[in-house]
Amino acid sequence: MPVADADVAVLIVGGGPVGLTARALLERWGVRALLVEKHRELSPFPRARLVNVRSMEIYRRLGLADRITAGAFAPEYGRIRFRDTLHDRDFATAAMVGINAPVPESPVIGVVTSQDRLEPTLLGAADAPVRFGVELIDLVEESEGVVAFLVDRRSGEETRVRARYVLAADGANSTVRQRLGIDTTGPGAMAGFTTRVRRRSQPLVCPTARRGLLHRARIVRPALPRRRLGLVRSHTRRR
Ligand SMILES: Cc1cc2nc3c(=O)[nH]c(=O)nc-3n(C[C@H](O)[C@H](O)[C@H](O)COP(=O)(O)OP(=O)(O)OC[C@H]3O[C@@H](n4cnc5c(N)ncnc54)[C@H](O)[C@@H]3O)c2cc1C
Repeated sequence: MPVADADVAVLIVGGGPVGLTARALLERWGVRALLVEKHRELSPFPRARLVNVRSMEIYRRLGLADRITAGAFAPEYGRIRFRDTLHDRDFATAAMVGINAPVPESPVIGVVTSQDRLEPTLLGAADAPVRFGVELIDLVEESEGVVAFLVDRRSGEETRVRARYVLAADGANSTVRQRLGIDTTGPGAMAGFTTRVRRRSQPLVCPTARRGLLHRARIVRPALPRRRLGLVRSHTRRR
């Protein structure tokens, strides 16, 4: 049985939206948790643009819904525009569901925001310890829990934490999943993405937008027509 340097009820691996939300919820329920995130800080990138209705219901219970809404963008900035090039006209646009109008079953509506706005709010929503720059490299299951092997990426120091539960919130390429030998299923990669975050003084897509997030996707599934697809979302950034 490996010796551990610390004991905790739940070890959360990953400081993205899932891990940070879990940390806030566990604290509310009185469960002692430690979160480890391999990067030295929260991701500065905007990434996901939508907090959907169900997520907002959870944030409402945590008392965060109003703060998240106050930091969100106007709904029209969540509109997806399809163009062949940036300078063409839209050949189609799509609104995001649950953003523009209330859903009758819910007391909240979803918002258009970005992860660089959402995650600091989630981080500030709990006091449970967070160790940035610490990566989970391995884990061993025991009858009563798990021993996690962690490494501080700056100092190289290795530590072990014994936890009753490990929560794998470490994203699509999860180390925890791989260490447990859990494979993925499905058709595999469906598209290759390139994302550019652009800042410019002249409007790029929307008349008032100064900062744009451009996703360029190439569909790779052989059954689908091989055409280029440009998805452009844009928003203004508060200073
Ligand atoms: C460019 C881009 C654009 C996107 N746009 C959208 C969008 O428009 N809409 C949408 O819904 N989604 C979008 N996504 C996807 C969205 O970002 C993810 O779905 C979301 O971040 C998943 O949250 P998560 O908490 O599960 O994982 P993540 O946000 O990936 O967080 C996992 C965290 O775990 C950490 N980690 C990983 N391994 C370890 C380890 N071994 N030890 C410690 N820490 C570890 C990582 O550093 C990371 O911070 C986009 C993603 C990218 C990259």
